[in-house]
Amino acid sequence: RVLVGTKVDEKHANWVTAYNMLTGIRVSVSRTNAKIDRALTDADFQAKQKSTFDIAGNELIPSAKYDFKFKDYAPWVFRHLRALFRLDPADYLMSLTGKYILSELGSPGKSGSFFYFSRDYKYIIKTIHHAEHKFLRKILKDYYQHVTDNPNTLLSQFYGLHRVKMPYGKKIHFVVMNNLFPPHRDIHQTFDLKGSTIGRDYKEDDLEKNPRATLKDLNWLRRQRHLELGIQKKQLFLHQLQKDVALLKKLHIMDYSLLVGIHDVQRGNEENLRDKTLRVFNPGGESPGEYEPPSVLMRTPSKLENQRKARELRQMIKTERPVPMGETRSRMPDELEEGQNRPGFVFNQDDGGFRATHEDNSPDDEIYYLGVIDCLTHYGIIKKLEHFWKGLSQDKHQISALPPQEYGERFLNFISGVTMSQEEAHRVAREKDAA
Ligand code: ATP
Ligand code: CA
Ligand code: CA
Repeated sequence: RVLVGTKVDEKHANWVTAYNMLTGIRVSVSRTNAKIDRALTDADFQAKQKSTFDIAGNELIPSAKYDFKFKDYAPWVFRHLRALFRLDPADYLMSLTGKYILSELGSPGKSGSFFYFSRDYKYIIKTIHHAEHKFLRKILKDYYQHVTDNPNTLLSQFYGLHRVKMPYGKKIHFVVMNNLFPPHRDIHQTFDLKGSTIGRDYKEDDLEKNPRATLKDLNWLRRQRHLELGIQKKQLFLHQLQKDVALLKKLHIMDYSLLVGIHDVQRGNEENLRDKTLRVFNPGGESPGEYEPPSVLMRTPSKLENQRKARELRQMIKTERPVPMGETRSRMPDELEEGQNRPGFVFNQDDGGFRATHEDNSPDDEIYYLGVIDCLTHYGIIKKLEHFWKGLSQDKHQISALPPQEYGERFLNFISGVTMSQEEAHRVAREKDAA
């Protein structure tokens, strides 16, 4: 598949960063995965492994094009997480580092994070703030336990936590996570839902310019939309969401949202690559701002690099892979290929998503891609930001940072409303009034 966008050569401002991120991932992930699997220990959650890359290289670290330092956090924990999420190690490295192509989102949200997509759109690299990084390390054990207990969790799937540092540059922390949206299906509408109405409106007038923009709570309500799920699917979804939100509350997390991507089966794929990039590269964040075309970071690896990568991959494929708990064998790489169905994962069972169904369980014409994203904001961080902001702004009502308990309640309330048809919502409201 060809990426459309502005091709950026090696002189691009972020080329070196992107290249170093991928080189670091390639070397550190294959290093960890080459070892025989073992059980995790407490120390694994705190572990960090530092590598210094340079042009010369040594027995442990292959030579790289640039000088940089790379840190791999909790490598064994993430190896196990990837196995729990049933990623194939060779597949993972191939997607990210097979061709050294990343696509960069030009205009990040108000958080300042950058998003990069792997060339096959399966993975997202998100740069995160130091506080988010520290927080993820702190909650890693709870997160790991949660994923073990909840294979169908809707929370972001974290596959790696790393840091790059270039000479004289600042430290850049980043996570690798799942792209909720499938590489092979057009997403016709996207919503980012928090359950709050303040500032949760994408200007409808701008939709003409940017038809695939990420819409928000008020846009959802205005459209009188609902997720059409039969009783059983609705229960599965809400039950899992409750469990996930319970963890977020416990960890004092807030500001997360439910990302909803809708594929209309009738419209199908327009096979319009330009549209596809617009969709993929327009996440928007809190304050979408102007749409900027993506830049594609692209370079053809040298023959030598290719040979080395092929060797590493062959080596990894030969090495024993971790087997997820309750499984008797590990997945074969090509099981994921067609349609990106992920067998065993409830919310990815229909073409990588969750098919809309009527009350009688007959299928409807939409496929939903659902997940809880941006879940690394600790209440402490937001409080500080709010404090700072309030000092600048007179209008204190603009900001409604809720404590995690209330945030979670409001979120769950809103999302369960999202799964109700008009009649159902009215009935529930009447029942509540009567009680
Ligand atoms: P802010 O803190 O301002 O909300 P942020 O930089 O933390 O922004 P996120 O909220 O994580 O960014 O994501 C912004 C947008 O990027 C989302 O609304 C969504 O459109 C897209 N996005 C984020 N994560 C994913 C994902 N895992 N899969 C697909 N799209 C994603
Ligand atoms: Ca967000
Ligand atoms: Ca954020």
